[in-house]
Parts: sequence; C-alpha cells; structure tokens
Amino acid sequence: MALIVGNWKMHGLKASLAEVAAVARAVATAELADVWIAPPFTLVAAAVDAAGGAVPIGGQDCHHAAKGAHTGCVSAEQLADAGARFVIVGHSERRADQRESDADVRAKAEAARAAGLQVIVCVGETEAERDAGQAQAVVAGQLAGSLPDAADGLIVAYEPVWAIGTGRTPTPEDVAAMHAHVRAALVDRFGAAGAGVAILYGGSVKPDNAALLLGVPEVGGALVGGASLTAASLLAIVKAA
Ligand code: 13P
Repeated sequence: MALIVGNWKMHGLKASLAEVAAVARAVATAELADVWIAPPFTLVAAAVDAAGGAVPIGGQDCHHAAKGAHTGCVSAEQLADAGARFVIVGHSERRADQRESDADVRAKAEAARAAGLQVIVCVGETEAERDAGQAQAVVAGQLAGSLPDAADGLIVAYEPVWAIGTGRTPTPEDVAAMHAHVRAALVDRFGAAGAGVAILYGGSVKPDNAALLLGVPEVGGALVGGASLTAASLLAIVKAA
C-alpha cells in the first residue's frame, strides 16, 4: 500500500490542527493509503492528539544528539517523547539553508533510529546537476553518505530539487529510472532488506498528477509539500494512490 507523507514545512498554526483531525476522520472511516503528517515542531504534540492514532505524526528534522547545549534544536528523543513516530532528515531545503552535509544527515538518521523513530532520508539532484547528466551520480553519492547502518525503519524520499514547489515534475520515465537506481543502491547496501525499503517520490505532487506518479514502478508513495496543507488536497492525493 502506498504511503503518502505530508511535509508542512514552516506552515501551520494551531488552527491547522483541524486539517489533521479531518484527515484522521477520513482515514478512520475508509480503506485508504497510509497517510502521515510532519507539522512544524510547535504543533507535533497537539497534532498527535488531533490525529488520535489514525495518522502518524512526525518531525521535519532532528538533532544528531539526544540532548545537550544546542539552543534552538530538537532531538529525536524529544520528538518521540512528544508522540512522533517518524522524522524527515536531509530535506534539500535543510541541506541548502542549514548547510547540512551527508554526514550530518546520516548522524541524524542514526539518532532517529536510536530513538525508535522511522526515518525518511531525502535525496535529490539540482537542475544544474540533472542538466549536466549527473543526477544519478549525485543521488548515489547522497545515499552512500546519508543512509544509516541498517534498513529497518528506513524510508528514502527522492525529491529532485528543481521539482519542489515549482509545479514541474520529471517524466514518469525519469522517475522510474531514478527509483530503479535508488532501489539498486539500497539492495547493494543492505542486501535483501534493501528490497523492502519504501522509496517515495516528492516534488510538486498534486491531486491531478498523483495517480500518474504513484503508478510508476518502484514509487512506494509520495512526500508532499504544498498540497498537504489542507485535508481536502492531501486526501485527494491519498485517494488517487
Ligand atoms: P512541494 O510538494 O510543495 O513541491 O514540496 C515537496 C517537498 O519538498 C516535500 O518534502
């Protein structure tokens, strides 16, 4: 079954909890694809309450340490304590804005696993890298440097940077080629366990293109930004899955 993960990024106030509750109600009353939501840190605990167990709630980042003198940071242990079930690490916005390296992302992924969270590790090339024919090499390098030591609890999200928030998406053929490449890297790294790791596609997934993108071989679900902010559009994607 497909997994649809909503990444709210730096959006959402207390009023947005009604969207979480609406998604939870829909999931509880119909046979739908799995749907998870990653609200901002400020809403994690309240979203866990609003979801009532029907929609796993997660964080958008975590620190690599469990605790310490790191003003403004949040640990995986703290997320788990707030009721989070998963965390996204290595999103391209953090790799760019916070200058996170593959080694940083890997340490965060290990911290997430140590805290008992499932972890979504994000990879993806820039437009310049794709134009230079380097997309697969860039993603291979990110996977080599960012993945944790074991495959349990691991999910990978392929998000081409140029498709995020732009309304542009790769062709289904390009998505298929990259997901096959990611799958091969996972099997190479983890053996049989790598065959069971879900690979999500992210970047301008909307209700009207979700069925096409989710129908591509090796696409196990979607990581959705803008279209995850309302229950109506997130559920439209979930129903297309
Ligand atoms: P958009 O769906 O808004 O393009 O964002 C994708 C994304 O970055 C999800 O993590």
